[in-house]
Amino acid sequence: MSTLKPSTIRIGHRYRPNRLAPSYDAIVIGSGIGGLTTAALLSDLGWKVCVLEQHYTAGGYTHSYDRNGYEWDVGVHYIGDVGAKTRSRMLFDFLSAGKLQWAPMADEYDRFFIGDKVFSAIAGKQQFRDNLVARFPAEEKGIDRYMQLLEIVSNGIAVHSISRVLKPWQRILAWPYLKLKTPALLYRNTYDVLRELTQDDDLIAVLCGQWGDMGLPPKRSAFMVHAMIARHYMYGGFYPIGGSWNIAESIIPQIQKSGGEVFTYARVKRILIENGKALGVEMADGHRINCTCVISSAGADNTLTDLLPAGPVSKAGYYDLLGRVKPSMAHLGVYIGLKETAAQLGLPKTNFWIYPSNDFDGAVDDFFDNAEAEFPVVYISFPSAKDPDYERRHPGTATIEIVAPAPFEWFEKWKGTTWGKRGDDYDAFKAQLGERLMEYLYDKLPQLRGKVDYYEVSTPLSTEHFCAYGHGELYGLDHDSARLKQTWLGPRTRFKGLWLTGQDVLTCGVTGAMMAGLMTTTAIVGMRKAGPLMKKIFGRT
Ligand SMILES: Cc1cc2nc3c(=O)[nH]c(=O)nc-3n(C[C@H](O)[C@H](O)[C@H](O)COP(=O)(O)OP(=O)(O)OC[C@H]3O[C@@H](n4cnc5c(N)ncnc54)[C@H](O)[C@@H]3O)c2cc1C
Repeated sequence: MSTLKPSTIRIGHRYRPNRLAPSYDAIVIGSGIGGLTTAALLSDLGWKVCVLEQHYTAGGYTHSYDRNGYEWDVGVHYIGDVGAKTRSRMLFDFLSAGKLQWAPMADEYDRFFIGDKVFSAIAGKQQFRDNLVARFPAEEKGIDRYMQLLEIVSNGIAVHSISRVLKPWQRILAWPYLKLKTPALLYRNTYDVLRELTQDDDLIAVLCGQWGDMGLPPKRSAFMVHAMIARHYMYGGFYPIGGSWNIAESIIPQIQKSGGEVFTYARVKRILIENGKALGVEMADGHRINCTCVISSAGADNTLTDLLPAGPVSKAGYYDLLGRVKPSMAHLGVYIGLKETAAQLGLPKTNFWIYPSNDFDGAVDDFFDNAEAEFPVVYISFPSAKDPDYERRHPGTATIEIVAPAPFEWFEKWKGTTWGKRGDDYDAFKAQLGERLMEYLYDKLPQLRGKVDYYEVSTPLSTEHFCAYGHGELYGLDHDSARLKQTWLGPRTRFKGLWLTGQDVLTCGVTGAMMAGLMTTTAIVGMRKAGPLMKKIFGRT
């Protein structure tokens, strides 16, 4: 049985009831990028905000941890759209007061191994298109049409986002306009849309080679999210210099400026609701914090099923609505440390995506039916190669991370056991899965055999423990068409003073959850007050 030393990376302040201010203007549950963004934007408007995080460190999926002299990120491998003065970049700059810096990956930011073929995604819109056309010359027309569809979806996403911020009556009034401006394409199935552009299964596979970035293969995902991700990375991938923990580290001072704080070890047990209104929260230690504005970034499912009393949730009709959405898939992580630098080991600044064949959906079905089947996707990332600051912090070493899907059900029998002490059978199962995943790495980079100093495997139960997702969800709710059509999934809830933010409000991804923070802030303070804030951030409303 293993004994694991806890990480020394700790962002945020440890919660104690006597460390709380006498009152707050808002409470945010969860310190992921969605929660921190909402808290920082409200703080900029002068609100005193208390962020409560159950983990020992702030950041949610943007947190990092260290062990045995190595440091890994758990939910950030690359972020797009920050290489120029885009809206995403401007918001990151605003939230971090310019402290967050970005290092570009290689021009070939993603490499797809599909069966025995290898394809690339190349940074730059024209380069991306030309590279595809060079590989699939007969499909030029379809590729150009694909590029056009990405633009159409991009405009539609803005309308989709606005519609989620509106009050229900405003949405009804604006419905004819929203309907006109929202292309049906957004909510269509990714595979169906692509099938109309090309009959080449390899091309469809390459276009969907990033399906792991939202957790659904093409026959199950909504084209809106597919297109968002493709566009997001089209100008290349970027890595937060110094590691992803710097995201929370650089945002927290903006929250503190207005007297707010980010508390860790601060598990919220329930949200206090009376007569349909939020009155504050009750902490796991029984302490109550009164506040009439409560914002949950803990995920829609957690918030509605675990944090709220069943009676009011049922009365508000949420159980029916929750039946229309489902949790995203769970995952395994392998965190690897090597005693040479990324340069010495020849590690690339390119992510690897390894697929058994171009039938992505079929491979997922096979694997979920049979744990011995090939992994439907194995993603390998080389964080120390991407981070120009890594060697200063951890000289002479390198790190690699592997992510692969795994159903939560495989681990359910160990639910409720203690982290680090789940039992020999659990450790043996984990070890066997880890060894299988390590073989994918050695197959692609044989020079690494014999060079690995340390590795450990995380399972969906690790996700449940550290990030509080009850089904070990990788990306909150599944990104299928049904979910995206749910107008109730937005910042507003059916309880006065209770708001949602984070990846279930818009989409997953650090930028998706960050934009949700902007949406939630706008919904809370109203368009009139949000206008000047937008101007400050983006230079225009
Ligand atoms: C393996 C993996 C790889 C990824 N790679 C990338 C990538 O390369 N690029 C990218 O853009 N995105 C990536 N993502 C997705 C991205 O990290 C997430 O979509 C995003 O960070 C989610 O932010 P959030 O604020 O919505 O939620 P989270 O970051 O999940 O934050 C929610 C927080 O709420 C806390 N919480 C829950 N319940 C309670 C409670 N009762 N009391 C107090 N606190 C509570 C949790 O502990 C957690 O900290 C990845 C995700 C994973 C899992």
